[in-house]
Amino acid sequence: MNTDVTKFDNEIYQIDVHMEGKPQRMSCYYIDSSDPILIEVGPSNSFPYLISALESLGIQEIKRTAITHLHLDHVGGIGHLNEKYKENFVYVHELGLKHLPNPERLWKAVSDVYTEDWLKKNWGEIKPIPVEKIKKLNDGADIKIDKNRIIKALYSPGHAKHHYSFYDATSGTIFMGDTLGLIYPHGNFVQPNLPPPDFNKEVLFSTLEHIEQLELKQVAIAHFGIHTNPYELINNAKESIDLWLQFIDNLPDLTQQEASDKLVEWIVANYRSLDIDDKTISNYIGNGNFEMQINGVRNYLKYQ
Ligand SMILES: [Zn+2]
Repeated sequence: MNTDVTKFDNEIYQIDVHMEGKPQRMSCYYIDSSDPILIEVGPSNSFPYLISALESLGIQEIKRTAITHLHLDHVGGIGHLNEKYKENFVYVHELGLKHLPNPERLWKAVSDVYTEDWLKKNWGEIKPIPVEKIKKLNDGADIKIDKNRIIKALYSPGHAKHHYSFYDATSGTIFMGDTLGLIYPHGNFVQPNLPPPDFNKEVLFSTLEHIEQLELKQVAIAHFGIHTNPYELINNAKESIDLWLQFIDNLPDLTQQEASDKLVEWIVANYRSLDIDDKTISNYIGNGNFEMQINGVRNYLKYQ
């Protein structure tokens, strides 16, 4: 089997799409069943990895895809996917109806944060898809994937206002996109991911508390992978978010860059005090966009 694919129980496949050319940055998921579903497509530059992984599993056709939210690292490759698989339709938050046929606004929003050059090089351009290929999700909606198996769509705002998670009671898995945060290899802790303009602590915590009520065996996150200690990780995420908010709120009046440098310095010191090894630390720090975190948190604090 292709090393970019990891099989889990209950026919769940985790696919590493080598975001930004690096392994273990972005996971998509495929659930094999009588009516299979792909969860996330990744950015368009990662599309060749997604296709080669699907082909290594003998999958010739994708008919439906569920997207957690409209950030381009999750949905950017959707036009490429729909070009290849003519029958594919996409389950997404209702804002997708407006933005996926005309993705200029999505592109502009991300290029304001990352710059257009960075985006083109690292994630690639998003192609539009026709509106008739989009199905809007409703909170609590059931997506039937087998006679006795249902994926429940749960509205999950906090990281983004257009975020859904997908709950599979059969396997006890919540596919939760970026709602939890980031877990990179060797890390058994969560690094918050709190981007502008939507990050809101109360909204995010209420989403996490709702998810905690479910019977969970594992969380499947986008960045990165499946983890079998769901309740511990959710608590860890909440604790870390509280600490980050306190730290950023107490920073003096610094530029975004200066504040980001202070945040990184503080995170590294925290991780060292927890005896986290240097390789893991540099993975978390090297793959983070801390100016964006400062911006997201400040934007939230401004309205408190
Ligand atoms: Zn993401």
